[in-house]
Amino acid sequence: MSQPGCDLGVIGLGVMGRNFVLNLADHGFAVAVYNRTAQKTRKFLDQEVGPRDIRAGYSLQEFAGLLKKPRAIIMLVAAGQPVDAVIREVMPFLEAGDLLIDSGNSHFTDTNRRAKQVGGKGLLYMGMGISGGQAGARHGPSLMPGGSKAGYERIRPMLEAVAAKVDGAPCVAYLGPGSAGDYVKMVHNGIEYGFMELIAETYDLLKRGLGLTPGEIKDIYQGWNRSELNSFLVGITAAILGRQDEGRGQPLVEVILDQAKQKGTGRWTSWDAMDLQVGTPTIDVAVMMRDLSGCKAERLAASQVLQGPRLVFGGDRERFLAKLKNALYAGMIVTYAQGLALLRKASEAYGYGLDLETVARLWRGGCIIRAALLEDIRAAFRNRPDLANLLLDPHLGQEFMARQTDLRDVVGAAAELGLPAPALMVSLAYFDAYRSARLPANLIQAQRDFFGAHTYERVDAPGAFHTTWTED
Ligand code: NDP
Repeated sequence: MSQPGCDLGVIGLGVMGRNFVLNLADHGFAVAVYNRTAQKTRKFLDQEVGPRDIRAGYSLQEFAGLLKKPRAIIMLVAAGQPVDAVIREVMPFLEAGDLLIDSGNSHFTDTNRRAKQVGGKGLLYMGMGISGGQAGARHGPSLMPGGSKAGYERIRPMLEAVAAKVDGAPCVAYLGPGSAGDYVKMVHNGIEYGFMELIAETYDLLKRGLGLTPGEIKDIYQGWNRSELNSFLVGITAAILGRQDEGRGQPLVEVILDQAKQKGTGRWTSWDAMDLQVGTPTIDVAVMMRDLSGCKAERLAASQVLQGPRLVFGGDRERFLAKLKNALYAGMIVTYAQGLALLRKASEAYGYGLDLETVARLWRGGCIIRAALLEDIRAAFRNRPDLANLLLDPHLGQEFMARQTDLRDVVGAAAELGLPAPALMVSLAYFDAYRSARLPANLIQAQRDFFGAHTYERVDAPGAFHTTWTED
């Protein structure tokens, strides 16, 4: 007698696909797999699958034939053109009512386009962000599904089983129609870029500013990770700083080239924030600093000719450490504030209907930006679902304001020492701008009207005004 069909299919046996398949199978689901390069499929079956109910198709037709109907298929392939290629190649073997889910980091506009394309053939389509890297995929990721609600309900028990759990609740929930899931994942990554840059700046201040060794800095991050700064990224930073380069007996971090790479999700976040006219400066400078790190040869040449102040820290070290910790926490609050303000605007502009408390709940476990702070963020949106900005939450606003003097002192110290700390600096500037009842934008409007007759509005009368600023 032939076996019943598999519960779910996964296309793509790369880092994420392999681990997600094992996670699904460990929760009792029968999984069909397909990978473009058949050799990878064989290796996976030989070396990793063991007794689990994982069955391979060596053609997409064979793969589709292994699945229960209506079929549910998750694609975990490289973002961009490969997703279009997979859709094109698998479609001939699918039928109306089947569900296709893209779990890669696809651009949200691509998901909108693909949903239309496959929807025209009667298929259901979902974009489902996944976070947590390979360990998350294997043992419990944060999942950010959007798109077909009917499709989500169909696979919900499987997703809830394999997702990370916090206090027993799975880090997965339907987020909204269309590309809502991809958008939330994109902003998750933008926030991730911001945190990584903030942490890197504190590391630089500890290393070049205070002259501490990687071992000493590791101890500091370890301590911070036991405080309100508790988060995945602070935790892995401590682990990284404690790692020795095998055989050479020196910290591995010291021999890693200082050129930060990127796959684009941080840049996409900044781009769309600018399109929607939402300020996300901490995320923007995080992208900028990765770009600037890339021109290593130019920086090396410039370091020979461009001089800044002499790097000598003259203050009280213990006090500075306490300030730095507070500055990082304040920077994290502001980065979340920017990302969530962007989600709020995008939800209105694109009709996602996002519930930001749910978003904060999904991010509490499994993902790269998980942090103790998310409990407060969740509470903020539970108290006021329409909260315009996290800084306006009484508790989080107070948490930031209690640390603002320390953030100002750290930013001042970085400037005096000649150390770049743009994410800390713009986090402070964002706070100062956001709390300003009047900004110098009046002058900018006057300049625009001066050279371009763009007109301006007045504070004391409605309408558009133009001034003849010069005689000629
Ligand atoms: P890998 O580079 O490990 O694997 C890429 C997979 O895509 C392989 O299975 C590869 O098949 C397949 N592929 C590439 N091009 C094509 C194509 N033209 N047609 C069919 N299949 C193709 O990637 P990851 O597993 O790391 O990432 C998968 C997706 O998940 C990406 O969108 C990524 O951004 C996202 N993601 C990754 C995370 C991570 O930490 N790695 C975290 C969260 C999301 P083949 O073996 O034949 O080359």
